[in-house]
Amino acid sequence: MVLGKYKQITLARSTDKQIQNISQDGGIATGLLAFALDEKIIDGAVVAGPSDEMWKPEPTVALTADEIMAAAGTKYTLCPNNWMIKEAVRQYGLEKVGVVTIPCQTMGLRKMQSYPFGTRFMADKIALIVGICCTENFSFESLKTFIEAKAGVNFDLVEKMDIGKGKFWVYTQDGTINFPIKETHGYEQNGCKVCLDLVSELSDISTGSIGAPDDWSAVEVRTDAGDTVFSKAVDAGLIETKPIDEGKFGLEMLTRLARQKKEKAMKEIDRRKELGLPVPYKASSEKEDPLANI
Ligand SMILES: Cc1cc2nc3c(=O)[nH]c(=O)nc-3n(C[C@H](O)[C@H](O)[C@H](O)COP(=O)(O)OP(=O)(O)OC[C@H]3O[C@@H](n4cnc5c(N)ncnc54)[C@H](O)[C@@H]3O)c2cc1C
Ligand code: SF4
Repeated sequence: MVLGKYKQITLARSTDKQIQNISQDGGIATGLLAFALDEKIIDGAVVAGPSDEMWKPEPTVALTADEIMAAAGTKYTLCPNNWMIKEAVRQYGLEKVGVVTIPCQTMGLRKMQSYPFGTRFMADKIALIVGICCTENFSFESLKTFIEAKAGVNFDLVEKMDIGKGKFWVYTQDGTINFPIKETHGYEQNGCKVCLDLVSELSDISTGSIGAPDDWSAVEVRTDAGDTVFSKAVDAGLIETKPIDEGKFGLEMLTRLARQKKEKAMKEIDRRKELGLPVPYKASSEKEDPLANI
């Protein structure tokens, strides 16, 4: 299953106008965490919050809906949210932690829960993992460098960035610039080249824009925890849904891109193995789904 296990896959978006205005796509990450906080399903959330530097996120423990909203929007650079779980539990005393994670971070948290040696009193406090899709990520310096070089704009004037339709999009007050996504590959983190997971397969609920129309998200509801919060939010009228195949390329596109990511990564894993380089998974010739054992 290239999209991982799920109970339900659907298009969805937040019905809250404020969340719609500030979020990256359908506002599912922000909307669900704010709702979960309100419903006391979680008592705080680890998010990629703002820092002193524009577009350089900082892992943040959000204790209010306003703090969750302040973290809305995608920052295409590293933000070690997992690192903040310890602080959320030990310093903030949270018993039910919500967290937003990209796929590699989701995997890290599930490993922590499966082998809780040294993390026993943290791993069991994670109540909700909202996984976001990810194709690649960049160091902050790389991001700044290629935006200025390829879009020809001052990085400080960028208002939004996005990946979609095979392009990297840069929004400024003066207009929108795009360039082919393949031009960014030379800048991506080396580890992303061997990453097999597009959709945060191990999260409680995943969300991304691939397969969804503009300002909507494609959502996979995966676990009981994800199902509870999502169903309640839909019943409360805070999230609206429509069938995924209504999206222009819908489920077919999401599945295709998830498969492509795995195949490309497996080729690179095989190549690195042949060179005797360390790889995080077995080579494809060993015929095993690397995510199956996590
Ligand atoms: C590096 C990166 C690459 C991505 N690539 C794709 C892609 O190719 N295709 C696709 O469909 N989606 C991709 N996404 C996800 C997409 O951009 C949206 O984040 C996702 O669709 C959720 O939208 P939303 O409106 O529900 O989120 P919002 O409601 O806007 O909330 C976004 C949440 O993401 C968190 N966040 C922001 N930046 C980071 C970060 N760097 N690390 C960890 N958490 C973060 C924020 O804390 C916030 O809680 C990527 C995200 C990242 C961070
Ligand atoms: S592509 Fe994979 S390894 Fe790279 S940041 Fe995204 S989830 Fe992590």
